[in-house]
Amino acid sequence: MIPFLDLYQVNAPHRARIEEAMQRVVQSGWYILGKEVRQFEEQFAAYVGTRHCIGVANGLDALTLILKAYDFAADSEVIVPANTYIASILAVTHAGLTPVLVEPDLRTYLIDPALIEAQITPRTKAILVVHLYGRCCDMKPIRALADRYGLKIIEDVAQAHGAQYEGRMAGNLGDAAGFSFYPGKNLGALGDGGGITTSDDQLADRLRHLRNYGSSIKYFNDYIGLNSRLDELQAAILSAKLPFLEAENERRRGLARLYLDGIRHPDLTLPPAGTAEQDAWHLFVVRHPKRETLVDHLNQNGVQTVIHYPVPPHQQRAYAAWNGLPFPITEQIHREVVSLPLSPVHREEDIQRVIAVINQCPCER
Ligand SMILES: *Cc1c(COP(=O)(O)O)cnc(C)c1O
Repeated sequence: MIPFLDLYQVNAPHRARIEEAMQRVVQSGWYILGKEVRQFEEQFAAYVGTRHCIGVANGLDALTLILKAYDFAADSEVIVPANTYIASILAVTHAGLTPVLVEPDLRTYLIDPALIEAQITPRTKAILVVHLYGRCCDMKPIRALADRYGLKIIEDVAQAHGAQYEGRMAGNLGDAAGFSFYPGKNLGALGDGGGITTSDDQLADRLRHLRNYGSSIKYFNDYIGLNSRLDELQAAILSAKLPFLEAENERRRGLARLYLDGIRHPDLTLPPAGTAEQDAWHLFVVRHPKRETLVDHLNQNGVQTVIHYPVPPHQQRAYAAWNGLPFPITEQIHREVVSLPLSPVHREEDIQRVIAVINQCPCER
């Protein structure tokens, strides 16, 4: 069986560094908001190219805290892609704001910039872009709209650590960005973790308070804050792994290239190769109108797959009021996509085997 993602193997090359980092924290006697978090924040901000990084508890909180920190009026709207992991949309809801869903481009699975303007109202305050599957959204037209209407751009970079757009890092393409360090992400902790990057000094200061009970001096509270901190242990582990992120992403790019060059199947749609060298390739997602046949064929031939995601947010029970709304492109994507094995520790032989299995799939349209 070729596993979809083997987290033990992903962390095995870092094991000695991780254990050394963990021992350092255990020895220190200081476990929350200390020098490990500070150090990781500095290193990650330098990597992304922003003035600040604020470590938080997870990716959902990162996005929620950004939206809270802006303190938009209660009836404000935030534009989000209709096809995303539900966390992007939950963040808007948790901040007390209204998500306004916009369809993606069927080729890239990323928010379609041409469809955004029609959804802008006087209440719109921000566009939350999601660099889904590890590829950056088309930021130039989005930036133009944001400038014209005075909107903030917030990036969901939970799947795109190290991706680039026109030479700039994801996380430095808008006003503020939320990262997740969930174990399965391109930069993963050994537990939950998240981070916010921004070059806005005032916003960063507010966020440092908000993640810590609204306080910067213990027992003095300036805002109605949350408890959402990256802990010292996870920060130390992330610092140990960060220097290898670029090489691991390069490895992902090499394997993605094998898929792009090797898969030859008339009815299968591959991800567009145009930006392949800038993508972080968190996932390698293909699309087929008879997905079940393809998935069965892969699984029966020893290839594990995952579907990202089987149900679109607007059809989830959690958002029952939206269940009847039509988002045909989003629905088609959720019906047809399947993710193939891809990680820094997959071998080229593994990928070649997946390619051979796919190319023999008896799945006609
Ligand atoms: C993983 C993920 C999140 C949430 O991150 P957590 O750390 O699990 O809270 C948000 N958005 C996207 C697109 C994700 O993939």
